[in-house]
Amino acid sequence: MNKTKTVAIIGGGASGLLCAIFCAKGGVEVDVFEQNSKCAKKILASGNGRCNITNKNVSSSDYFSQNPSFVEFALREFGYEEFKKFSQSIGLLLDEKEDGRVYPLSNEAKSVASTLINYAKSLGVNFYTDTKITDIKALFKKYDSVVVATGSCAASHLGGSDDGLRFAKEFGHNIIPIYPSLVQLHLASLAPKKMSGVRVDAVVTLYIDGKKEQSISGDVLFSDYGVSGFAVLDISQSASLALLEKRKVEISLNLLSGFDMQKLSSHIQKIASNIKNFTILDILNSIVPSKVAQTLLDELKIPLSITSDEITVKIAKNIANTLLNWRFEVNDTHGFRHAEVAGGGVDTTEINPKTMESLKQKNLYFCGEVLDVVGRRGGYNFAFAWASGYLAARDIAKSS
Ligand SMILES: Cc1cc2nc3c(=O)[nH]c(=O)nc-3n(C[C@H](O)[C@H](O)[C@H](O)COP(=O)(O)OP(=O)(O)OC[C@H]3O[C@@H](n4cnc5c(N)ncnc54)[C@H](O)[C@@H]3O)c2cc1C
Repeated sequence: MNKTKTVAIIGGGASGLLCAIFCAKGGVEVDVFEQNSKCAKKILASGNGRCNITNKNVSSSDYFSQNPSFVEFALREFGYEEFKKFSQSIGLLLDEKEDGRVYPLSNEAKSVASTLINYAKSLGVNFYTDTKITDIKALFKKYDSVVVATGSCAASHLGGSDDGLRFAKEFGHNIIPIYPSLVQLHLASLAPKKMSGVRVDAVVTLYIDGKKEQSISGDVLFSDYGVSGFAVLDISQSASLALLEKRKVEISLNLLSGFDMQKLSSHIQKIASNIKNFTILDILNSIVPSKVAQTLLDELKIPLSITSDEITVKIAKNIANTLLNWRFEVNDTHGFRHAEVAGGGVDTTEINPKTMESLKQKNLYFCGEVLDVVGRRGGYNFAFAWASGYLAARDIAKSS
């Protein structure tokens, strides 16, 4: 009789849990080692506690990697339909939004984490929490296969660690330099601090070495160090990578995208001529938050108290131009601790895209964010964690 195969999975996060479930379903004896006191802390914190569990429209173009085609096989084999079928089969029903994002029907990340963990337990998976693996080679002596599902070093308070990269190096793997992504940006200006706490709807445009890279509309929140908000997170991937490459990174904010330059400066001049004793601050206060109005006038060195007859065409145009194209230099990100994910990681040219097995060490597998694969915001990072965990499990279980 064949001996039951054994696998050690390092990391009880998204990819580790999916891998554990499919290994166990395939008849493998599974031990999951998790350094935290409980598994799935990032799942629990995801989507502001709602867990944007995947995306209906997931495709390889939603990912950044030095090896962009690497994700294609995984997304074909365990894409949205396959994930949906699996999650429905364990009672985890999904709520598909019009824009493609998918959430659990419960609208609670808790239900995702507990369903996956409880289902894994029901299949006989053994969980060892509060157990940080430091010696991967010792695991190899004990188990038939070892899976590195340690995630990235983003969000260390939730278990983010670079242990997986260290393990990979022990087996001679190349590491693509890592950088924080889906992260807040630091600006080389005191203006954001003066507007701290203000949230605006804006179009954020990213410039790299002076060249327009991308524009995203959404909310922007000013803070002491710079800017956050969904529009900022969305451009942060390219911004952070460019900073890593020591390129010049700037953003411009259009705070009144319903106007063009001519319309906005005419509006300022019209109100100035209609209401004689209005100050420039009165005029701006009625179209942007007051902290924004004051900061902008300070930056342009325009006295707040100038009244209508002092508001020249040149001043009106200068203000309009800044409101529509307020340019800031980005000098840093808010760092790995605050990032949702990290770009870079284990070089995927050294991983079999069909099995997630290392091409350097037989029976060693990598899945999830430890690999040089990072997705856009919108459920794509979990989508890859599920798919890569599934592929590793399928290969591990294939001859058991
Ligand atoms: C605040 C936040 C919100 C997010 N929201 C979303 C979202 O809504 N949708 C989305 O798609 N993505 C989201 N993400 C990203 C998503 O959580 C990750 O991409 C995904 O969890 C990666 O899965 P993983 O299995 O690779 O790593 P993880 O889920 O991070 O799991 C890795 C596990 O390994 C453990 N570990 C690490 N080293 C060791 C060791 N040496 N020994 C033992 N255990 C170890 C860690 O403690 C951790 O539990 C969010 C991330 C954060 C931080």
